[in-house]
Amino acid sequence: DPGADVRVDVVVIGMGQAGLSAAHHLQRRGYEIGERMLLLDANPGPGGAWQHRWPSLTLKTANGVNDLPGWGLDDAIDVDEEIPAAQTVPEYYRAYEERFGLRVDRPVVVDRVEQPEGVGSDFVVAVSGEGTAGLGGSIAGAGAGQAGRAPVTRTIRARAIVNATGTWDRPRIPYYPGIGSFAGRQLHTRDYTRAEDFAGERVLVVGAGISAVQHLAELAPVAQTHWVSRTRPDIRNAAFTPEVGAGVVARVDERVRQGLPPASVVSNTGLPVSAVETGMLPQCHPMFDRLDEHGAVWDALSLRSWGSAPEARRIDVDVVLWATGFLHRLDHLAPLGLRTEDGGLLVDGRATTRAVRNHGVHLPGYGPSASTIGANRAGRWVAREVEEYLGSLDGPDG
Ligand code: FAD
Repeated sequence: DPGADVRVDVVVIGMGQAGLSAAHHLQRRGYEIGERMLLLDANPGPGGAWQHRWPSLTLKTANGVNDLPGWGLDDAIDVDEEIPAAQTVPEYYRAYEERFGLRVDRPVVVDRVEQPEGVGSDFVVAVSGEGTAGLGGSIAGAGAGQAGRAPVTRTIRARAIVNATGTWDRPRIPYYPGIGSFAGRQLHTRDYTRAEDFAGERVLVVGAGISAVQHLAELAPVAQTHWVSRTRPDIRNAAFTPEVGAGVVARVDERVRQGLPPASVVSNTGLPVSAVETGMLPQCHPMFDRLDEHGAVWDALSLRSWGSAPEARRIDVDVVLWATGFLHRLDHLAPLGLRTEDGGLLVDGRATTRAVRNHGVHLPGYGPSASTIGANRAGRWVAREVEEYLGSLDGPDG
């Protein structure tokens, strides 16, 4: 029956650093792809979110891309630190997938994950997209007759879920009064491509993370830049150290174990700004109170905790560029009811990736593992904890 559910032990959703690492470790534990495990990704090609990064972001300007387990970046490809990371990283991931036979069904979007018979029973994963046609093609019978046909919506039954969907698809733009009345252009980091698009314009960059600083430094030679942020930028001319990183990870870890929404790891490691970049940054003002048709307006100066508003109490601009970060893409898991009242997700386990309310759901790349190094490490623990969970289902009490 071509319409029959495919059934596997584990479905890995999302094939960025986190999904690849988890898949690699699961594969080593005997979860054969197509038989016991399916790997799904919404993107058309390898690379996770990296295939979409803006062209001027290179391995030289990025925070550092960690190796995947078992085969490092330098061994896998000829690395040129000057070419876009949007080329280099996908090339690495592609080579990696091929070397280890990590066969990914793509583009396949997971629309919903449900568990109709309750915790401990099968998950039902609803998927759509072109890549669904050949999905599970290696499983005898399942999917037969569908290969090569038009995209369809299908369901997969799985005993465990590894969700590694990242954040790129959920840009975060905070609400400010008047945001809808601004007559100029507004865009988010996600949609930024190159500085030349803003030649001769007055651009207001919002945010105090690495993206904001990179946008400002790039825009300075071609545009008139302005900068605002809710918090004071934490500029460090010193290089980013592992100790700083570990401190941030520990703080995020503590938050998510309490069910609070995580803060971004990568944007909280301080700003390793070079001396050259520092010279290109305008003064950073505290966040405006509202936008109007022409730009940003400051009303309540007395409430400021740091810095001062511009003297004119307004800045007129053509563009507002929101470098305000990303949220985790988890909507498809909503039917599982994992969310806390605080808007977080309770997680525990050795890499802080196991959903407390449902040990069948594992989330590498969430919270403290939302960096390439963290995602990579998490993969090993996720594989082990998935196996433990499946073992508990099979066990005498399962
Ligand atoms: P992603 O790489 O985002 O992969 C997730 C995949 O899941 C995507 O392919 C997506 O299509 C897929 N997906 C999502 N939803 C679904 C769905 N419903 N169904 C099917 N598939 C789905 N970290 C570093 O360590 N070093 C850096 O230099 C660095 N630079 C960064 C720069 C920017 C601008 C940003 C935004 C982040 C940066 N990060 C960096 C953090 C980075 O996001 C993580 O380190 C890491 O790359 C994320 O990997 P991931 O596997 O969790 O997610």
